[in-house]
Amino acid sequence: MNEPWYPARAVVDLDAVRGNVRVLRDAAPGAAVMAVVKADAYGHGLLPVARAALAAGATWLGVAQPAEALALRAAGITARTFTWLYAPGAPLAELVSADVDVSVHAPWGVEEVAAAARAAGRPARVHLKVDTGLGRSGVMPDQLPEVVARLVALQGDGLLELVGVWSHLAFADEPDHPTVRGQADVFDRAVEVAERAGAHLEVRHLANSAATLTTQHVHHELVRPGLAVYGLSPVPQLGGPDAFGLRPAMTLEARLATVKAVPAGQGVSYGHAFRTPRDTVLGDVPLGYGDGIPRHASGSQDVPGAPILVGNGPSARMLHVTGRVCMDQFMVDLGPDATERAGDTVVLFGDGATGAPTAQDWADACGTISYEITTRLGARVPRVHL
Ligand code: PLP
Repeated sequence: MNEPWYPARAVVDLDAVRGNVRVLRDAAPGAAVMAVVKADAYGHGLLPVARAALAAGATWLGVAQPAEALALRAAGITARTFTWLYAPGAPLAELVSADVDVSVHAPWGVEEVAAAARAAGRPARVHLKVDTGLGRSGVMPDQLPEVVARLVALQGDGLLELVGVWSHLAFADEPDHPTVRGQADVFDRAVEVAERAGAHLEVRHLANSAATLTTQHVHHELVRPGLAVYGLSPVPQLGGPDAFGLRPAMTLEARLATVKAVPAGQGVSYGHAFRTPRDTVLGDVPLGYGDGIPRHASGSQDVPGAPILVGNGPSARMLHVTGRVCMDQFMVDLGPDATERAGDTVVLFGDGATGAPTAQDWADACGTISYEITTRLGARVPRVHL
């Protein structure tokens, strides 16, 4: 069945995804790669991205939510899959039956996982999450001996296999930050506690994209990159994607819905945050916050909004969101001599190497991070996978 027609689309280049996974494999030659495909693969489309990452040599998939892991299995993807974020009542037995590795991130999770294994009739594969300093989920170091002892006892009962110890860094994007070494040390001590208690760990994992690309001493047996799989720079202060050999996978584009001449002094969009200083031509871009375009991308009289590339081919011009972003659309001041027509292409962000604004440009304009720019893109926008 054809997708319903829509005046905008996110084109996702799976060749870029495959190339990025190969870059990550090369960056951590001693480690396996878990491609993190949570949140609909950061907005890029769960299943096509998962398949592309596996084809390029990722051997694990990582998702936050149980439902995401089950969606992979429902689609027939059997690769090793790890899920780490759940609350009491989660369908753990279903995960264990589906051969999904699960995290234990709090003491209460130990007994829930064991109960799930009993219900599933097979042992759960467990990765123990240690809070090494991020202050998010994870067992605190002083609780470890007790939690590990219980996990090892349940392993002896055949209810689980403690296959991994893992954690997450607070400052991976600042590789020289002292907490990176500090968290790595806490992590190593947690591993020792597990091994002294009798665990035979298959994988230790701590590295996201930034750490995979910059911090070799935290690679261990498995790295967990997300952002870099999509070709976005995880350490913007060290350079854009090309500085790491990455290529952005997503291009967000729309077609101008209206192009019309307006007089000087015309207020533009809600609240008239922008008023035309001269006779000009306005274009209407049919994407808005209902599609996940941040309202912080709005422009005002004094501050231009986020950058957009308007027009096709060599005559394409870099312009800016003009006035406030609405639910379904935003405006652009095309200037008095505009030659654009309704139907012409507008690229919001894509591969900077092609002259397009980047997701990082949008993040900078909106006071956020590139993760949020692609991930918040709404389900209403069709994804087209090349
Ligand atoms: N591991 C965990 C636990 C995460 O929450 C994330 C993403 O936020 C990742 C790995 C991947 O991180 P990144 O996208 O920075 O590579």
